[in-house]
Amino acid sequence: MSEEHKTKIAVLTSGGDSAGMNAVVRAIVKYGITKGCEMFVVREGYEGLVRGNADAPTFKRKVSFNKHDLNGHTELLDDTSFISNLRYGDGTLLKEGEGDAMDHPGGRSLKGRYIIRVGWDDVRGWFAEGGTLIGTARSAAFRTREGRLSAAKNLIHEGIDALAVCGGDGSLTGADLFRSEWPSLVSDLKASGDITETQANYYAHLKIVGLVGSIDNDMSMTDTTIGAYTALHRICESMDNINSTAFSHSRAFVVEVMGRHCGWLALMAGISCGADFIFIPERPPKAHPWEDEMCDNIHRHREAGKRTTIVIVAEGAHDADLNPIRAEDVKTVLSERLGLDTRVTCLGHTQRGGRPCAWDRILPTLQGVEAVDALLEATPETPSYMIGMHENKITRVPLVEAVKMTQSVAVAIKDKDFEKAMSLRDPEFCEGLEGFVAVSALDNTKRLPKDQRMRVAIIHMGAPAGGMNAATRAAVRYCIRRGHKPLVIHNGFKGLLEDNLEELSWLRVDNWMVRGGSELGTNRALPDMDIGAVASQFQKHKFDAFFLIGGFEAFTSLLILDKARQHYPQFHIPMVHLPATISNNVPVTEFSLGCDTSLNALVDACDAIKQSASASRNRVFVVETQGGKCGYIATMGALAVGAVSVYTPESGITLDALRRDVEFLKLRYSLDAKGRSEGRLILRNEAASTVYTTEFLSKMLQEEGGELFDSRLASLGHTLQGGIPSPMDRARAVRLSLKCMAFLEKHHDALRNQPEHKRRAPDESAAVITIQSSRVELTPVQEMVDHADMKNRRAKSNWWIQHKELVESLGGKTPLMNEV
Ligand code: ATP
Repeated sequence: MSEEHKTKIAVLTSGGDSAGMNAVVRAIVKYGITKGCEMFVVREGYEGLVRGNADAPTFKRKVSFNKHDLNGHTELLDDTSFISNLRYGDGTLLKEGEGDAMDHPGGRSLKGRYIIRVGWDDVRGWFAEGGTLIGTARSAAFRTREGRLSAAKNLIHEGIDALAVCGGDGSLTGADLFRSEWPSLVSDLKASGDITETQANYYAHLKIVGLVGSIDNDMSMTDTTIGAYTALHRICESMDNINSTAFSHSRAFVVEVMGRHCGWLALMAGISCGADFIFIPERPPKAHPWEDEMCDNIHRHREAGKRTTIVIVAEGAHDADLNPIRAEDVKTVLSERLGLDTRVTCLGHTQRGGRPCAWDRILPTLQGVEAVDALLEATPETPSYMIGMHENKITRVPLVEAVKMTQSVAVAIKDKDFEKAMSLRDPEFCEGLEGFVAVSALDNTKRLPKDQRMRVAIIHMGAPAGGMNAATRAAVRYCIRRGHKPLVIHNGFKGLLEDNLEELSWLRVDNWMVRGGSELGTNRALPDMDIGAVASQFQKHKFDAFFLIGGFEAFTSLLILDKARQHYPQFHIPMVHLPATISNNVPVTEFSLGCDTSLNALVDACDAIKQSASASRNRVFVVETQGGKCGYIATMGALAVGAVSVYTPESGITLDALRRDVEFLKLRYSLDAKGRSEGRLILRNEAASTVYTTEFLSKMLQEEGGELFDSRLASLGHTLQGGIPSPMDRARAVRLSLKCMAFLEKHHDALRNQPEHKRRAPDESAAVITIQSSRVELTPVQEMVDHADMKNRRAKSNWWIQHKELVESLGGKTPLMNEV
C-alpha cells in the first residue's frame, strides 16, 4: 500500500430502522472528511457488505454521485446536481461530472453497487429525515461464514480500513463476531487467491465500532439508544390524542407499544402520559393472578372520580409464569370485571416513523464524532467499542461486554429471575418504575404516622417551562400518598401575600402531565419585595417544607430565603428548588426542566424555515432564539438543525467573526451545484450583542450575498417555551420531583422534634436539585453561588460551550475556511 493511503471508513445501518440513523451517517461522513478520511456508505446493512460492488454494470461515461441512489432507488440519472462539491479529505475539489469517475476509473453506475464513496453534500439535510436513507436489511447471508467471507473480500477490495455499524443488539453481535473472525477470514481469502499477500498483511485487523440505533432502548451499558426518544414522542402524541377521546366517553384504552424484551417504552410512556397501569417484561405484576392487581388499582381510580383509564402493554409482557399478557386479554378483564367500555389500540409501526426529535439529532451527532475518533485511535490491541451515553457523557464501552450484558437480560427473564433482569437495567429504569407507582397508584397504605406528615408549599417562579406542571403533579400525588398536605401557591410570591393558596386533590392534577405553561401561574416577583410579610405567611399557613419550581428567579428566591433564616425562624424548614427554565441557565445543573421541550420547538420551527429557505432560492435565515444571557438553546439548537454558525452572549459577536461568516457563505454558495438551491441557517441568541442585532446581521448578509444568496430573519420568541412538554421533560420532572420530596421528608424528619422558636435548619436543608454528569445531587444553595455569574444570570462555566466548535465544523465553515 502506498504511504499516501488515506483512512477509508465505511458506515452502515442494520436491523430495525430508527430515527436518528441518518444523523449518525451524516455526522460520521462529515466528521470523517474533516479528519482527512475517505468516507463510504454501505447500502442495505450487512447485505450490502456481502454483495459489494462486483455485480455493478460498468458504463463508459462518467457519472456523478446521485442522491436517489443513496436513497436506495437504483435508477441511474445522468445528473450532476447531487455531486459532492466540497473538498474531500485530501483537499481535492470535485468539479461537476467528476467524483465517481475519480474514485472508479472507467466510471460505474450506482446500480448494483452497495459500497459507495460519499462526499460532504451527499448527506446534507439528512437530519430531518426519519428511518435510514442508506437502507437497512436483516441479512441471513451475513449470519453464515460464507457471507462474512464475501463481506471481508468486498471491504478489502474497496480498500476500507474501518467500519462503523449502527443497529440493535443483533447487529452489534454480528459486528463483534465479524471482528473476532476477521484474521481467519483474511487468511482464507489469501489462500483462495481472492486477495494478495500485500492486502492480507495490510488488512490484518479490522477496526470496528458500534452505535446503538434501536427504538427499544434495550442495550445495556448505555442510558439511551438512538431513536428511542423519537419513538417515545410518537407514542406520547398518540396517547395524548387517545386521552381526550377516552375522557369524552369515559372509556378505558389498552395501548400496545413495542418492546419484546424491554419495557422502557411502555414504562416511559406510562410515566409521561399518566397511565393507570403498565405491563412490562422485566417486572410482571406481583399479585397472582395479575387481573386482581390491575383491577384493584383501576377500581380505586374510578372510585376517586377518574373518567379515563389507560393501560399500557409492552409487546413482550407476560405474567410471573411467562404466560403472555396481551392487550386483548386486558380488554376482556376490564370489560367483564369492571364493566368499562374498553378499546384496544396497537400503535405498531407508527412508533418507528417520523422526524427525529431534538435528542435524536444531538445524540447521534455527538456519538458519530466519538465513533470516528475511536476508529482513528484503534490499534490491534484496543477492544472494539460501542459508543454509549451515561447521563450526559458520551462513553466508549467494550462492545462484547455490552452485547453480553444485554443478552443476559433476556436470559434472566426466561429464567423468571426478574430481580436480576431489573438489576441489569440502568438505575434510571428502576427509579422510573418506582416513580410510576408513586404517582399513578392511589394507595393509602404508604401514609406516614401523623407526626411525620408535612404541610408542603409548592410555588412556580419566573417564565413558564415544559415540565413544571408534571413536576407539580408528581409532588402533589406523592404528598397524598404519604399523608402530607400539598398546598400550591398561585401567582408566585405575590399570590402568597394575597393568601392565594389551594390544597390540591389527587384527581385535580390528573391531566397535568401534558399541560404546558404553568397551571399555578408564575411571575418574577422575589420574596425580598417584603420578606417580613412572606415570613408571616409561612407562619400563618404553617409550612413545614417549601418547594420552588422555576429558573434563575427561583434560585435567587431560595438564596434570599436561606439568608433570611438568620432573622426569621419561619424559614428554618427544608426548602428545595427544582430548576425549570428553557434558558438552562441555573448554575451547576447540566439540564433544567423545559430545555428539551424548547429544543424540540426550535427544531420544528427551523425545519420549516429551512424548507422555505431552500424553496425560495439560495437564502440564509438568521434565526433569533430566546435564552437571556445564556447561549444553551442557541448552541444546542444549532447542533440539532445543522446551522452553519451560532452567536451566543458568552462569545459575543465580533466584526472578524462576521467577516468570516460572509466569506464562508460566499464561497459555499459559489461551490453549490447549479440549479440546486440551498437554505442555510445562522442561529443568534437574543442577547448575543447589543450592536450586531438580528436585523443588522440579516441586512448585512443580504447586501453581501449579491447574486449568490439573499437573507431573511426569523425571531422564534415565545414559541420556544413550547406547547405540550416533551416526553423527556415530563419523565425528568417526575424523577426529580420525587427526589425533591424525599429530600424534604428527610430534613423535616431531622428537624421536627426541635421546638419551633429554637429550630435551626442546617445549611444543606436549603438545596437545588442538580444533574451533574452521571449523578443527581442536592446541592446546598450557598455552594451554588460560587458557580453563578449573578450579574449575567447564568453559570460561570458550561459543559455545552465546546459544541459551538462542532457546529462550525459540521456546518462546513471550519474545514472549508481552513482550506482557503
Ligand atoms: P432491532 O433491535 O431493531 O431488532 P437488531 O440489530 O437487533 O435490530 P437483528 O435482526 O437481530 O436486528 O440483526 C440485524 C442483522 O445483524 C441480522 O440480519 C444479521 O445480518 C446480523 N446479525 C445478527 N445476529 C448475528 C449473529 N449472531 N451473527 C452474525 N450476524 C448477525
